Amino acid sequence: MTTEKKLPAWSFSGLKSFLGCAKKYYHLKVVKDYSEPTSEAMLYGTQFHLACEEYVRDGKPLPGRFGYMQHTLDALLRKPGEKLCEQKFALTANLEPCGFFEEECWFRGIADLLILNHETGTAYVVDYKTGKNSKYADTGQLELMALAVFAHYPEIKRVNAGLLFVVPKQLIPAKYTVENVPSLWRKWLADYAKLEKAHETGVWNASPSGLCRRHCVVLECPHNGRT
Ligand code: SF4
Repeated sequence: MTTEKKLPAWSFSGLKSFLGCAKKYYHLKVVKDYSEPTSEAMLYGTQFHLACEEYVRDGKPLPGRFGYMQHTLDALLRKPGEKLCEQKFALTANLEPCGFFEEECWFRGIADLLILNHETGTAYVVDYKTGKNSKYADTGQLELMALAVFAHYPEIKRVNAGLLFVVPKQLIPAKYTVENVPSLWRKWLADYAKLEKAHETGVWNASPSGLCRRHCVVLECPHNGRT
């Protein structure tokens, strides 16, 4: 198998997908000869994120079906600091901030809600999760958001982060300080090196799992079982 396209800027979800199954990642993200359909759950998530963004940023009332979030969003709004919704972060391969669509962009991430308290050097990063179950919550996304915040805002020394599962009303918290930056990057760069190696060698190994048959769109894979 050969790699036909430039390795795109990576994100938490992309790298996680690669680590789950490199072959699937290759088809969805590199050559893009398959794509995943938009599910109802994805559509709900998109609409939910937009409603929260418009409520926090513009004060636009939440649609009735998302009204259950008002109390939580109001509590977040009361936290002191600058509120930024759907904040885009981009870094170069030297881990320096850059524009989201710049050619040299190497990593991309978006924080659903970022609260910057420049006076205390503290930031809050909140990621809304519309899935029903927090059992398999992965705080890796929060680590990368914290790393991006530290890179973009040198005055910020602490990040309090959380995955906010809105349906079961559960917060999975995580805390980071600027002292955590080197060890966190070591971990992420080790994972990224696996992606880089696959791209260089053109070897995108399949990792069959119980999710193949029901959840994978790569029909040509021998592990898919639907062809
Ligand atoms: S069917 Fe399974 S092994 Fe094959 S590409 Fe999809 S996830 Fe990977």
